[in-house]
Order: sequence, then structure tokens, then C-alpha cells
Amino acid sequence: MSDLPILILGGSYAGLMAASRLRKQAPQARIVLISDQPYLQQRIRWHEALAGRQVKRAALAPLLAKARIEFIQAAVLSWDAPGNEVRLDTAEGPRSLSYRGVICALGSVSQLPQWPGAEHCWSLSFAQPLAQRAAELGELAAQGGHLAVIGSGLAGVECASELAERYPKLQVSLIGPPPLADFCPASRAHASRALQRLGVQLLNARVVAADEQGLWLADGRYLACERRLWCGGLRANPLLAECGLPLTADGRVQVTADLRVAGFSNAWAAGDCAAVTLGDGRAQRLSCASAMPTGGHAGEALGDWLHDRPTQPLAFAYVMRCVSLGRRDGIWQLTDAYDVERPRWLGGRSAALIKWLLCAMVWHTPGWELRTGRRLYAWARPPVALPSISATAATEQELG
Ligand SMILES: Cc1cc2nc3c(=O)[nH]c(=O)nc-3n(C[C@H](O)[C@H](O)[C@H](O)COP(=O)(O)OP(=O)(O)OC[C@H]3O[C@@H](n4cnc5c(N)ncnc54)[C@H](O)[C@@H]3O)c2cc1C
Repeated sequence: MSDLPILILGGSYAGLMAASRLRKQAPQARIVLISDQPYLQQRIRWHEALAGRQVKRAALAPLLAKARIEFIQAAVLSWDAPGNEVRLDTAEGPRSLSYRGVICALGSVSQLPQWPGAEHCWSLSFAQPLAQRAAELGELAAQGGHLAVIGSGLAGVECASELAERYPKLQVSLIGPPPLADFCPASRAHASRALQRLGVQLLNARVVAADEQGLWLADGRYLACERRLWCGGLRANPLLAECGLPLTADGRVQVTADLRVAGFSNAWAAGDCAAVTLGDGRAQRLSCASAMPTGGHAGEALGDWLHDRPTQPLAFAYVMRCVSLGRRDGIWQLTDAYDVERPRWLGGRSAALIKWLLCAMVWHTPGWELRTGRRLYAWARPPVALPSISATAATEQELG
């Protein structure tokens, strides 16, 4: 076996699941995980961190050491896939590292839009000092200031509701089409009611420009606000566009059914940076819900490849979506295997509890797997058996 290591690029949900499953499949392989951040962060709880809540993070080096996986804290500067080499920016300076096999789990970024003045908006990113921003928001709230959250999808709704609940004196506006467009009508209505109850102003509008004092809307209105938070959508890591990889139009790495990078025998991609298609041909949603199984599968497939075993196609089915609406409310929305919403959902405290449990599960699972060497996480595979409980009835009870 070659002395060259197997590299895992990225140390979040997909990278850690890949590491755990690869170690299980290949107990003797030299595995090195590279991440620019020294911690596993709970990205799906960043809205809570922004609201000043303590959100734990775990140091990657000791976590990985439990499974004899080396950790290098470094930013990947470039990846030469045909040359089997990555270029890194480490604390000691730039260096190159050759590899035998690689899993790319470099994830996504919240990229600011192209409109004029977008630099006057905050976005949620790994490099961002969330604690400092949280402190600024606390001060703004004390002065009764105004925060505009731009984007009414999952992250925008979670940020707006969390901050409005945490700081009742903070004026919060949520700008975009009616919230949670891809939820069923009843759960969408629940989200709008919950946001309004928390005092969030819902503005069905499109932002076209920003300056230091506010936002310009497409209908000509100017919205004065001290802070602007961009939650308009995630994009695959822009670094990938400079690596000569086969990419889709939205910048994700094209992969085959076993998650191998198209055209490369020793490279895999998983999580937000991979263009994984569902059985019906649509691309997977950028989500932790996809990052965990695709990371796990990429690790297992690479392990099979190391042992000259045939690799398996990914078999994955969505079951649900969850969104928090502050700490005491939320929505649990059932979906079909292809992530299309079904008219079954749950709102209120039970949904908030389910969301909390899911966050805890995805936070603890990679560590548990790395420590024990066991497969503790399983994902649904199509066709999927959906729960037979009457979520509608439960919801009426919750709201009643
Ligand atoms: C506020 C918020 C709430 C969310 N809520 C949910 C939710 O409820 N459910 C859900 O399913 N999803 C949710 N998401 C989306 C979810 O967080 C992402 O889809 C998920 O984190 C993707 O995981 P990943 O491992 O593919 O990549 P990422 O989490 O993006 O991780 C990428 C990793 O690569 C590292 N990295 C990046 N660039 C470099 C580089 N150049 N060099 C070295 N390392 C690098 C990063 O440090 C990180 O370790 C939410 C996102 C946000 C922002």
C-alpha cells in the first residue's frame, strides 16, 4: 500500500462523517483531515450564536486523534486533482501535500449578492466573528435599533425569529417572498403567524441596493436600518471553480452515483460542495440533512476502493425538514423521498423539541462514531416508509 495519505478536505458535517466511515472501512490507512478552522462548529445553530447563546464547538485534533486520524489546520489554496496534490496555507507557511485518494467536503459559503452596496450587509460565514456580531446586536437591541434580515428561506426565518424572540426591543424585518416557499401551505401560514407574533415585520419585497444606513427595495422604497443580515442563499465553496474540476452551473462538483468526482478514479466529493442528484434527477438541497449521509457514503466508497471492492451507489431518501421559530416554536415538515413537501406537519413546542434533538444528534454523532468505531448513524433509503401518525391532528392540538 502506498505511503501517501488519504486526504479529507473540510472538517464539518460531511468531512467528519467521511472520516469516521473511512476509518471503519480502512483501519490501517493513513488519513489526514484538513480544515481552515480548528473546531467542528454547529453551523446549523449559528442563528442561536448570533442571538448571543452559547453554542458549543469541539476541537478537531483530539476528536480525530481518537480514530488515529491526523489533523492539519490549514486553508486549502488550490487542489490539483489530475496531479493528486493540494496546496495549503499553514501557520508555518505554504506547503504542498500529495495524496493517494481524497474526499472533498469543502462545503458552502453564504455569498453576498451582486447588488450595489452589498458589502454593507453581514453574512453568516465560517470566518466571521459571530460572538462579536452577537455583542453588536445586543447593543443595537438595547437602543431599540432595526435589523433587516434579507432572505425568507430557512436560514432567514431562523435568524429573524431567534433574534426577535431573544431581543423583544430589537426591530426585526424579514425581507423576501412569503417565508418558507417550499413548505406546505399550512406550515407556511404557521411560520408567518409565529414571526408576526414575535414582532417580525414581513416585507414581501426585493432588495436592489444597500448603503450604511439601509436598503433600497425594487419598488423604490428605502428601508432605514442600522444592521443588514444577508441570508439569501448558500453557494458551493468558490475555491472549487479554480481547481479544474467538472462543475455544475451552480458551482458544485459533478459526481457519479458513488459520489466519485466525475472523471477521477481516486477523488470523491460530499456535502454542500457535491452536486448529488436524487433519483428524480433534481440536485440535493444544500443541507446538513444531505451532508451527513453523503459524507458517510463517500468515506465508505473510498474505503471499498482502497480494498479493490466494487463501490456502491448512494441510496438516500429525504424524510423531513425542520425549522426553529425561536426556542419555543418550530415546524416539522414531512417530505417525500425527493424532498417534496407532504401535507403533514407539526408546529409548536414539539416541533421545536424535534429540531433541538436533530441538532444534538448531528452534533454528537460524528464524535461518537470516531470514538467507538461503530456506525451509529443511519439514513433513510428509498423507497422510504413514512410515519403513519396524523401530524395534522397533532398540530391542531399543539396550536389549540
Ligand atoms: C443559520 C443556518 C442554519 C442552518 N440550518 C440548517 C438546518 O436546520 N438543517 C439543515 O439540514 N441544514 C441547515 N443549514 C445548512 C447546513 O449548515 C449546511 O448545509 C452544512 O453545514 C453543510 O455541511 P458540509 O460539511 O457540506 O459543509 P460546511 O458546513 O460548509 O463545512 C465546510 C468545511 O470546510 C472548511 N473549509 C472551507 N473552505 C476551506 C478551505 N479553503 N480550506 C480548508 N478548509 C476549508 C470549513 O472550515 C468547514 O470545516 C443551516 C445553515 C445556516 C447558515
